[in-house]
Amino acid sequence: MTDTSTTGRSVLITGGNRGIGLAIAQSFLANGDKVAVTYRSASELPAGILGVKADVTDEASVDAAFTEVEAAHGPVEVLVANAGITKDTLLMRMSEDDFTSVIDTNLTGAFRVIKRASKGMIRARKGRVVLISSVSGMFGAPGQINYSASKSGLVGIARSLTRELGGRGITANVIAPGFINTDMTAELTEATQKDYLTKVPAGRFAEASEVANVVRWIASDEAAYISGAIIPVDGGLGMGH
Ligand code: NDP
Repeated sequence: MTDTSTTGRSVLITGGNRGIGLAIAQSFLANGDKVAVTYRSASELPAGILGVKADVTDEASVDAAFTEVEAAHGPVEVLVANAGITKDTLLMRMSEDDFTSVIDTNLTGAFRVIKRASKGMIRARKGRVVLISSVSGMFGAPGQINYSASKSGLVGIARSLTRELGGRGITANVIAPGFINTDMTAELTEATQKDYLTKVPAGRFAEASEVANVVRWIASDEAAYISGAIIPVDGGLGMGH
């Protein structure tokens, strides 16, 4: 459904060339916003979505992408920090590089884009920051010490950001998806997928559009008084966050 109270904004989604990020981009596009996504490798994007190349582990690359989006759509009013990776393995086998590379992309990457976006948001005295975390960040998951640490860290970012900039019309919220059908989850073994399914009260996995709808809403005027929240989209998997 189109939210007519908030349309035509400059929206940027990191890692928006596929999976959940692309679904989020399509949702904002359908809402009438000006949508840009970052991608790393060349990719086909649906008409109407601006693709800008960026690697969130590289500050200069992030800055260049923002400059391109600002020139085309104006300062970013809605930022969705979605880019993320997994390098799952049990603690005893996890190398320091497995740990730090996941933190660098998922957590420090979010810091880099939020810092860059905050300049324009502070100036405009409005903004929406949405951080795509995971049920694993709060619930924990074997083999995901690196990933869970990165995803729970996003809660600290959202809550400190809320306390720093909440008085300037800026909200920061965390979305915690459960099991969503994308390339990331397709990498899991069939046995792991079956095991997850037994734990999801909804009895099914979700489509990326089900996360996208919640992101679009939390970025709307209707959600102006929600900030620093963790919003699960997980079919009940992580109840009690
Ligand atoms: P995908 O693996 O399908 O897509 C990941 C996206 O992140 C891609 O666009 C990828 O770009 C981008 N990306 C990865 N590393 C970087 C980087 N260094 N710089 C810029 N972009 C990068 O994942 P999903 O769509 O499944 O996941 C999206 C987000 O949702 C992630 O943060 C993930 O942790 C989270 N999530 C996913 C769940 C799921 O069940 N699928 C559950 C909970 C959370 P490229 O195409 O160039 O690789």
